[in-house]
Amino acid sequence: MAKKVLIIDDSVTQLTSLKIFFKREGWDVETAKNGVEGYVKVYKTAPDVIISDVLMPHIGGFQLCRLLKSNKETHDIPFVMLTVLDKNLDKFWASQSGADMFLRKDFDMATIVAAANEITERMPVSNAVKMELSTFEIEEDAIITQINKILDEELMKTTITNKFRTLTDYTKDDKFIANQIFSILSAITDYDVACIYFHSPDNSVQKRIIFDEENVSLTDDLMLELWRQLLPDSASDFKPERIESDKEKVQLNSIDDLLSKKEFDFYYEDILIGKLCFYSRENIRWNKMRFMQTVKSELDLFLRLKYLYTKTCYLSITDELTQLYTRRHLKSVIAQEFERAKRYGTIVTVAMIDIDDFKMVNDKYGHMAGDYVLKEVSKIFINTLRKTDFVYRYGGEEICILMPETVIDKAYIPLERLRKTIENRDFIYDGKKMNVTVSIGASTYGKEMREASELIEKADTALYKAKKSGKNKVVMEHNE
Ligand code: GH3
Ligand code: MG
Ligand code: MG
Repeated sequence: MAKKVLIIDDSVTQLTSLKIFFKREGWDVETAKNGVEGYVKVYKTAPDVIISDVLMPHIGGFQLCRLLKSNKETHDIPFVMLTVLDKNLDKFWASQSGADMFLRKDFDMATIVAAANEITERMPVSNAVKMELSTFEIEEDAIITQINKILDEELMKTTITNKFRTLTDYTKDDKFIANQIFSILSAITDYDVACIYFHSPDNSVQKRIIFDEENVSLTDDLMLELWRQLLPDSASDFKPERIESDKEKVQLNSIDDLLSKKEFDFYYEDILIGKLCFYSRENIRWNKMRFMQTVKSELDLFLRLKYLYTKTCYLSITDELTQLYTRRHLKSVIAQEFERAKRYGTIVTVAMIDIDDFKMVNDKYGHMAGDYVLKEVSKIFINTLRKTDFVYRYGGEEICILMPETVIDKAYIPLERLRKTIENRDFIYDGKKMNVTVSIGASTYGKEMREASELIEKADTALYKAKKSGKNKVVMEHNE
């Protein structure tokens, strides 16, 4: 059976010469003089290939191609664009329109027919598609409706995209971000409960899940159960966080009442960086939800950005070997604490710690053993101190502790406990047991101090005294 070509061009001479040539080569030929007529003829004649001009009245070749490629039933028909493309912008639009082939208008006829032959071999239109096309009743008016629909859809997508883009200003405030995301989601879906999980590179806040109870309110137990379903292998230090709203809600007691569920996972490389989950009391076909794909890809982009941003922040203040905060971070925090003490009379105690005879550990057991000791000592610090005390790696084997709201006498007890814990701990590396002790010097803010660095200098003086008087000691430097 002869193959059918639909040629669309507003130039009568071009149309006629193409028609004659294709006929001579044994093709069935249909023609249209503009994009609108062409669109209707695609449905009426079910061609094997469409060859279209770009510049035409009403709708041009790019728009026509976009329309046909966005319809399920016409998507598979090969579209060949006849162009005089020479500008970069033209080329860009042409590639965006979804056309399957571009031919220059000044090519000779034989080349154009050969190209049509090639593409119909490569992308044959199935009989099923042709049959389906014949069932459509397409009028010219329908095109306006379809263009409007596409425009509406594009506008909605752009709106969603823009809303997500404004979020990038707030990569730190998880609750605010969650709230914004839920407000977009509630506009396009009918869920009862949604929850979002943000992964953070900082271990202390790794499991953060925020719930949005759109139409129902959940008990704490139920929330915990949903959380366990969401992240089955996570630790149990869960505190539910909710987005508050004044809406009237139905109290929900059982997970069985939530009939349908949809979950999206977001990855960066192989790290799960976020999760979004919807629940509804109704049976919902989430996949049919319009714009879900847009939301998903925007959220994916945003979560990657958020993850990389928080990771960069985390790395810039975290020492790689010990996982303690860096000296750079100490500088900015101590300046703030100093200002607070000066202005509002708050208290801050600073302690400097130095491992005793650490050079000997390196010399006797090797540098790796030294690294191991540093890591273990740092762990003891983090695990022994209060969550409100901040631990920094000050230099090689020197550690600094900032203890806000702690008077010097109160600071002695935890520091002495630290010293003892380290003294009594067996440090074993490569089967060899090492004895490790630390010297600690501490001091507190005094009114005579002019700069934050004096806080550290004074603690250093105390540390020096501890070393001088035999090491493995805590020395407190009191203010007069
Ligand atoms: P003191 O009791 O007087 O503090 O004696 P010390 O041997 O600890 O004195 P010093 O401060 O001179 O030596 C510190 C050593 O710590 C020197 C350095 O090679 C080692 N060091 C610094 N950073 C690291 C590190 O990251 N890993 C290892 N393994 N050693 C380190
Ligand atoms: Mg030392
Ligand atoms: Mg030292």
